[in-house]
Amino acid sequence: MIHSYGRCQCCGERLYENVSGGYRCPNCRTDYAADVLESRLP
Ligand SMILES: [Zn+2]
Repeated sequence: MIHSYGRCQCCGERLYENVSGGYRCPNCRTDYAADVLESRLP
């Protein structure tokens, strides 16, 4: 089951887990690497 993770930097849509281990915005289809997003967390 996928779950939301953070927000897209481009459009603000919620990101969802990608099977490849990263995250994807379902709105603009931007892919994010998991390590990149983790570095942005407080
Ligand atoms: Zn987006």
